[in-house]
Amino acid sequence: MNKYKLVTTKDRDKIPVILREKSKPVTKITPELLDLAKQMTKIMKANKGIGISAIQVGVPVRMIVLSNCDMCSSDQCFIFINPEIKRVSRREAVFSEGCLSFPDIFEDISRPEKVVVKAKNTDWEDVEIEAEGLMARCLEHEIDHLEGVLFIDYVRK
Ligand SMILES: [Zn+2]
Repeated sequence: MNKYKLVTTKDRDKIPVILREKSKPVTKITPELLDLAKQMTKIMKANKGIGISAIQVGVPVRMIVLSNCDMCSSDQCFIFINPEIKRVSRREAVFSEGCLSFPDIFEDISRPEKVVVKAKNTDWEDVEIEAEGLMARCLEHEIDHLEGVLFIDYVRK
């Protein structure tokens, strides 16, 4: 099995190229994918993060892991595969946001307050998540990573 490492930078003008890459859809659950999810969870917790995308450990596949998923009890719901935003609220909220790949950088970012996301779980079942507040922000942030979009892109210049 591969050993994955968090991709980080301290300089917003030197963004690692991988973070701009568009991630590819997952086509099936494999032991490698589950191992990747496990390592992502470990890395996220070790760095006190609340969300992480596979691209942040150098793997351009559409999978994200979130912590504090208070809407379901199963551990499985922390891992979302091929997540897609279905709806967002028109109302936005501003919050000081950070990213595991940019330690020490925090910015006030405005994002939709509520979001509905469709995804697959690790049993390859369809799941739909309706979230608001921090959970919604986290989903929006991590799904952005899959398109190579970063939170600092929202900072008005
Ligand atoms: Zn991030």
